[in-house]
Amino acid sequence: MIDAHCHLEQKDYDEDRDEFIESLKKELKAVVTCCAHPRDFELTLELVRKYKKFVFATVGIHPTYVKEFSLEQVEEFCKKIVEHKDEIVGIGEVGLDYYWIKEEYWRKKQEELFTIFIELAQKLKKPLVIHSRDATQRCVEILEEYNCKHVLMHLFSERKCLERVKENGWYISIGPIIARSKTHKKIARDFPLERILLETDSPWFGFGKRGTSLNIKIAAEKIAQVKKLSFEEVWKTCGENAIRFYDLR
Ligand SMILES: [Zn+2]
Repeated sequence: MIDAHCHLEQKDYDEDRDEFIESLKKELKAVVTCCAHPRDFELTLELVRKYKKFVFATVGIHPTYVKEFSLEQVEEFCKKIVEHKDEIVGIGEVGLDYYWIKEEYWRKKQEELFTIFIELAQKLKKPLVIHSRDATQRCVEILEEYNCKHVLMHLFSERKCLERVKENGWYISIGPIIARSKTHKKIARDFPLERILLETDSPWFGFGKRGTSLNIKIAAEKIAQVKKLSFEEVWKTCGENAIRFYDLR
C-alpha cells in the first residue's frame, strides 16, 4: 500500500532508480521518500515531479549530520524548503541521535537544529517525522514543549515512552525490523492500529540485500500476527493512516 518512510535518493538506487520505482508502482499505492541531507533535495524534487502522486517527499536534516552545517547554512536550506513547500508533505527526518553523537556539545547543537525544523514545520503546517535513536525521551520532551500535535515517530523503539506518544495522539511507523525484534513486536501489540504506519527505511533494513519498499509486507504480516488481526485489515488501515497523516492527494 504505502511505504511511509524510505530513501529513494540514496546511491544504492543510482543504477536503476527509474526501473526500481516502476516496479514499486505495480504493487504499492505510494511511497514517501525522505530527503535527509540538503545535497539530495534536487534529486528528491525531481522524483516527486516525475512520479507525481506516487512519490511524495519529506525534507529535513538528519541529526547525525549536525557537524556538517553552520546555522547560516541551515537557514539557507530552510528558505529553499519554504520555496518548495507545495512539493513536500512533511518535515523530517529530524530529531536527536545519541547513538552516533556522543559529545555534549554536539548533542546541544542537535537540539538547536531540531528546534529550527520544528518551527519550520509549524510555520508551514506540515507534519514532523522524527528520528530519535537512543534519545526518544528527550525528543518527546522537546516536541511537547513546542506543543507539536502532528508527529510521526519513525522506527519508534523505546517502550518507556509509549504511553506519552499514545496520549499525545502521535503516530509511529513500523518497519520490517519487527520480524527480528521483540521490542518492536511488543510496541506493535500495544499501540493502536489507527495510528501505525508501515515503513521500510530502505535501502536500509534489507536483511543483507538492498531494501525495498515492498518489504512493508513483512511489517504488515508481523503486526497482524501480534495484534491477532488479518493481514488485509492491517494493510488497509495502515495505508489509510498514511494518507491521513501526510494528507496525500
Ligand atoms: Zn530514514
